[in-house]
Order: sequence, then C-alpha cells, then structure tokens
Amino acid sequence: MSHHTVTLIAGDGIGDEVTNACVRAIEATSVKIVWDIQSAGLKAVTDFGVALPGATLDSIKKNGVALKGPTTTPIGTGHKSANVLMRQALDLYACIRPVKSVPGIKTRYDNVDLIIVRENTEGLYSGQEVQITPDVVASLKIVTKKATEKIAHAAFALAEKLGRKRITVVHKANILKMGDGLFLHTAEAVAKDYPEIILDDMIIDALCMKLVTNPCQFDMLLLENLYGDIVSDLCAGLVGGLGVVPGANIGEHAAVFEAVHGSAPDIAGQNKANPTAMMKSAAMMLEHLGETKAAYQLSKAIDTVLLRGQVRTADLGGSATTQQFTDAVISAIIDTKT
Ligand code: ATP
Repeated sequence: MSHHTVTLIAGDGIGDEVTNACVRAIEATSVKIVWDIQSAGLKAVTDFGVALPGATLDSIKKNGVALKGPTTTPIGTGHKSANVLMRQALDLYACIRPVKSVPGIKTRYDNVDLIIVRENTEGLYSGQEVQITPDVVASLKIVTKKATEKIAHAAFALAEKLGRKRITVVHKANILKMGDGLFLHTAEAVAKDYPEIILDDMIIDALCMKLVTNPCQFDMLLLENLYGDIVSDLCAGLVGGLGVVPGANIGEHAAVFEAVHGSAPDIAGQNKANPTAMMKSAAMMLEHLGETKAAYQLSKAIDTVLLRGQVRTADLGGSATTQQFTDAVISAIIDTKT
C-alpha cells in the first residue's frame, strides 16, 4: 500500500502527548504514514544548541509536509522562537485557523464558524529590534506589498475554494497610517480580482469588541501577524478554549500543521492535555495530503466523542486523560469503518 512521508516534530511541554495522540488516531484510519522524526524548540536547544536544527528544516523541505507540536520560547530573553524561524525560513506565509463551535461544548455562542487568515512572516515578528539608548528600544513592524499581496490572494483563493462570501481585513490604519495603511490598501487592490467575494475592513479594537459580542457575523478575517496571533487566542476562547482550535502554516513548497495553543508547561507530562486541536490539525493535514476520507473520519470521530460528552478532558469540564480521550476517538474511527 502506498504511504506518505511526513516530518513529525513533537516539540515541548504537552507536545509529546498531543502528537502521540495524532499518530495513534491516524493509524486507526487506513492512511499509512512514515514519520520522519525531527526536533525543534527548547528540546532542540538542549540537544543541538539551536531551536531549529538544519536537519529539521531539510526534512520539511524534502517531505513538504510536517505535523508539529508546540514549542516553548522563553519570554524576554533566550533563543528565538522555533515557530518564527520555521515560518520565515520556509516562507510559510499563510496561517489558516478555522474557528468553529464544537458540537456539545457549551459556550456563549453556538454558531461560530469563521476562518482566521494570518500573515505569517513579517509585521512585528520580523524580529528587527534596536536598542536606541539603554532605556529605549524600537521594534520595527515591517509591512511589504509583496507579502501582503500573497496573503490576500491566499485568503481569497481559500474563500473561493470553500464557498465563503466575505473577508474582513483587520488593521489599525487610523494610527499606523503607513504600515497598516499599506496592508489595507493592498488587500483592497487584490479584492478587485475576486468580484464575487465581499471585502470589508475593521479596526482591530472594534473587531475585538464585535467578536466577543457577536462573533457569528464574521466569515473570514485577514490579519497581519501580531493581530492574527492575538485574535486567534480570543477566538479560541469563543469556542471552548485553546484545546480545540487547529491550524496550518502553508507556503508554496511546504505545509506545517500545528494547533493554535502553546506548549502548556503547567499541565505537561500529566496526561491532561486536550489533543483535539492537534488531532484537528492532523485532519487538516490529511486533507492536504489528499486523504479526504480519512480526514473526514478523524474529524467526525472527534466531534462524535465530544458530542456524546462522556469522555472529555479537564479543560472542557471532564475528567478524561489525554490517552482516554484518544482511545475514545480511535474507537469512534473504528466504528465508522465497520
Ligand atoms: P505560547 O506563548 O506558546 O502561546 P502560552 O503559555 O502563552 O504559550 P499555552 O501554552 O497555549 O499558552 O497555554 C495557555 C493556557 O491554556 C494554559 O493554562 C494551558 O494549560 C492551556 N492549554 C493550552 N493548550 C491546551 C490543551 N491542548 N489542553 C488543555 N489545556 C491547554
């Protein structure tokens, strides 16, 4: 039987637990994957002295697809983020995060169904910081027409593919007239190529207010890097938390699938992490690999277990371990096959 070769990066903290859940769940579908195991993050710094070893990058370049657990980045000091390095080195310019209400999970809103499209390579993540005096630092926010055109085209192409009708471009162009102005006006220019899709715009602070009061009005959001990061966590909070929102980082030559959440050191190694977000990212990966049936099986099995409600992890009010939740998803996959 034919197989896919995929780079697997467990990452740090809960990474081992949630990526192991994905490997087991994919095994339960009929898809054969040969995992090319590589390292990144704090573990890689300890083992190899760098957050993103060359071998890891080479593996993703060769295989074209990776499944990645979260990596820890120290705050205010220490090594650079493996995520930022990886996204820039492989030009994974489009970060796609579907935020959808989860069946059976009671939250304030029942029908959230929006897609975040985040520019992944520049903005304040360009890492250009200069110390002007001992007490003054300038952090440069880089916006280029080229990168904005790419992410805007990615957003419109995705809208066309999924039959979405409206994209809201998010900015602070009233204050950052040049940088966010360039982002906004470039997106408006790209929109002319896609006349069937509506483009409107919203200032980031107003968007946050509207997201918490009426998130169901949004279809797709197009954001620069930092706004996309912050709004992703806000949106995760609308549908059950960081344990349930998946994501993908897509470029021309490679795609890396990873959950929105971080390495959650507070619960690492305790068999408590919710593997839903990582498993839904794995389902997005299966779809990307052309394994549509298996992607559906995995996604449906997760929804079935959550809807039944007997087996849930602590973040969703249950008492199941990561392993027990994974076992339940695997049983549900097997049920759909028999
Ligand atoms: P980063 O800076 O990488 O985003 P962080 O520490 O700010 O990391 P997370 O690691 O995502 O953010 O954790 C935020 C909170 O959400 C923590 O309390 C963590 O335990 C919880 N959390 C994150 N992911 C999960 C998960 N998969 N299951 C259960 N709880 C989670």
